[in-house]
Amino acid sequence: MNYRHIYHAGNFADVVKHAVLALLVEHLLRKDTPFRVLDTHAGLGVYDLTANEAERTGEFRDGIGRLLAEPDPPAALAPYLRAVALLNGGTGGSPRLYPGSPWLVRSMLRDRDRLVAVELHPEDAATLAATFRHDRGVGVHQADAWQALKAFLPPPERRGLVLMDPPFEARDEFERLADGLARAHRRFATGILAAWYPIKDPEQAATLHRAVQGIGVARALAVELLVRSPVDRFRLNGCGLVVVNPPWRLDETLGELMPFLTRVLAQDSLASGRVHWLVQSL
Ligand code: SAM
Repeated sequence: MNYRHIYHAGNFADVVKHAVLALLVEHLLRKDTPFRVLDTHAGLGVYDLTANEAERTGEFRDGIGRLLAEPDPPAALAPYLRAVALLNGGTGGSPRLYPGSPWLVRSMLRDRDRLVAVELHPEDAATLAATFRHDRGVGVHQADAWQALKAFLPPPERRGLVLMDPPFEARDEFERLADGLARAHRRFATGILAAWYPIKDPEQAATLHRAVQGIGVARALAVELLVRSPVDRFRLNGCGLVVVNPPWRLDETLGELMPFLTRVLAQDSLASGRVHWLVQSL
């Protein structure tokens, strides 16, 4: 396990992932009934953007840095930007801290909702546990994500969201992600499932999409951003999320949001965003 998210925190891929994640949580908050979020690859929770590791790559400058320089971001970004501001004491300008997925989710939950955060790396899991040690709304588990799908699904509330955000270090990570989606769907058929993936070679993303089309879900949406033309298939050219059981009208919201994110996060003139249904049964 060599992957350390601190090198990448707040980059363009985090912006896309966390903007969508915040919209999904916001949707769940619309009903009074409690829900649970299972974050299977939780990471550190909070990232210090002044740390050497973050500074060394400077990736956050072309992600959250660019976004915060925009004078008039679309309303769909409000829940995400609120969390970033909250972590930084409500200040605008360049943030010192960046919220990882568990912190972002927790900042939005009510007393009756729960977060289960799973992280395999012992040090990161310990840091995460320390962050939430006084918080009864959050359970942190040092465990394997794919085992966690068995252990924690379905949630007792029968309402909620699963975020799968693997590091893509292993060669078979795309297959494992498709398998994870299938497994999570079997155990929690009504749950919203969100799975993040990198786009280096777009053919890998297409293979994942075909796999999702074969796992028997009724509705699955894909949202993707390419920050540059994927000529060099070894670089991180973009990223995407598959969302199973997306909230009503998420496709429209993201359809309006992606042109903005594409313009702001573009790294060449061929950057593009798209939102498309992988499965849409009537
Ligand atoms: N979701 C986090 C966020 O948005 O802030 C970032 C997660 S990072 C991309 C992936 C994390 O998964 C790393 O912290 C890594 O240690 C962890 N990890 C790797 N393999 C894992 C596994 N099998 N089970 C659980 N966590 C794993």
